[in-house]
Amino acid sequence: METKFQELKNRLLEVNDISSAAGLLYWDQSTYMPPGGAAARARQTATLGRLAHEKFTDPTIGKLLDALEAYEKSLDYDSDAAGLLRVARRKYERAIKIPAKFTAEVANHTSESYQVWTEARPANDFERVRPYLEKTLEYSRQAANFFPGYDHIADPHIESSDYGMKAEDVSRVFAELRQELVPLVSAITSQEPADDSCLHQHFPEEKQLAFGLEVAEQFGYDMHRGRQDKTHHPFMTKFSLGDVRITTRTKENFLGDALFSTLHETGHALYEQGICPDYEGTPLARGTSSGVHESQSRLWENLVGRSRGFWYHFYPKLQSVFSEQLGSVSKDTFNRAINKVERSLIRTNADEVTYNLHVMLRFDLELAMLEGNLEIRDLPEVWRERFEADFGIAPPDDKDGVLQDVHWYFGLIGGAFQGYTLGNILGAQFYASAFKAHPEIPTEIRREGKFSTLHNWLKENLYQHGSKYTAPEIIERATGSPLSIKPYIAYLHSKYGELYDLDGCGPAQWTEMMETWPDGSAS
Ligand code: ZN
Repeated sequence: METKFQELKNRLLEVNDISSAAGLLYWDQSTYMPPGGAAARARQTATLGRLAHEKFTDPTIGKLLDALEAYEKSLDYDSDAAGLLRVARRKYERAIKIPAKFTAEVANHTSESYQVWTEARPANDFERVRPYLEKTLEYSRQAANFFPGYDHIADPHIESSDYGMKAEDVSRVFAELRQELVPLVSAITSQEPADDSCLHQHFPEEKQLAFGLEVAEQFGYDMHRGRQDKTHHPFMTKFSLGDVRITTRTKENFLGDALFSTLHETGHALYEQGICPDYEGTPLARGTSSGVHESQSRLWENLVGRSRGFWYHFYPKLQSVFSEQLGSVSKDTFNRAINKVERSLIRTNADEVTYNLHVMLRFDLELAMLEGNLEIRDLPEVWRERFEADFGIAPPDDKDGVLQDVHWYFGLIGGAFQGYTLGNILGAQFYASAFKAHPEIPTEIRREGKFSTLHNWLKENLYQHGSKYTAPEIIERATGSPLSIKPYIAYLHSKYGELYDLDGCGPAQWTEMMETWPDGSAS
């Protein structure tokens, strides 16, 4: 058994190495590569992707997994070996169901579709990209049908990024959340909007980058195993547990962009850097789902990075870096500015309250398209109607409507959006549990800018496990409750109750929730 297990691990390590090399090529393409390299680079990453897929779906891997089945059953569920076999088996069974020919066809199609979208969006020309999107929907339905037996046609897509959740679960959670959010958004946006002009001044790039990185390191981002570079669309990437990188972009006329995207990507990086070193090179060495991953970027970006306590400590530092711009701006004004809520057209610029409405709109339209209840030709109109119903404003064009996100034009339809909102919900749930264990966390942050207690709790209860547990398993283990919107709602009510005039809402709500979580919250 030992030899077979070792052989499986060796094969998985090769797959991992090829994928990591492809990841490095992608990172380079997004940071330093001259534009002339684009065509060859696309071919190179496709070649590596194909090799990794071929190696992973090699029947020998299936035979090894079969031979190790009895061994797996003899192991303790919580052991690393059992976890590795479980995850490898799940991924293998998924991978062999999708024919290589189909994957290649889709890859070709999406790269063409992406090319057309890059021209169609600035031209506000949905018609140009429509035939591509129709084809994409066809492929997306076909892809789901490689997994017969689903309850909803979106399930196989959702499972690929948020394993353990189905369309029905997500829809139920989103419906609950929507009921709370719609009145909250209208209560906030009916008031005088926050003045965020202090963020819209000239802030030299070097200083912005240095300040963001200083906070990232203070959070616990290990620069011996990380680095930060500039890109167009910030992301985090990992080539090994010893090399977890973040990227950012700066706008010299807006302070909020680089700062919060750095904190966001740092949250993703802390998760990956915190994985147990023994998992290096195995399928366990990555965050467990897109929703749980996003919970960490949101926790560090919003629950910590946009909190009053955080800026109590860091604002004087920021003021000394940008004394000319912020020297006479009060902490309260700054705090209101970075937490400004407004009904806006673009998802990626949305604040933490309205953001979820953007996500739910896309999620619901994805379900309708996959179900066959929404034709692509009707999509722009349906988008406009739904947007107006949810936000009270109508998108003036498709460019900032249905054409705004790259997801449907550069990949399949389905499973791409729900993780963002699951992340918002879960970020609050994990934070509440960390607080329950260590009520000193907010005080440490406010008084000393100290994050180690929070960081250590997250490492211990979440990060170190990598993919060993599924999202539902790790949520229950770490927080003592299945996914719940209660902490998130309490957080929003209390935070925005302090910033705006909201009936019966104030800071006590969040503290009370955290003190009694998860027991008291059930009552
Ligand atoms: Zn993220």
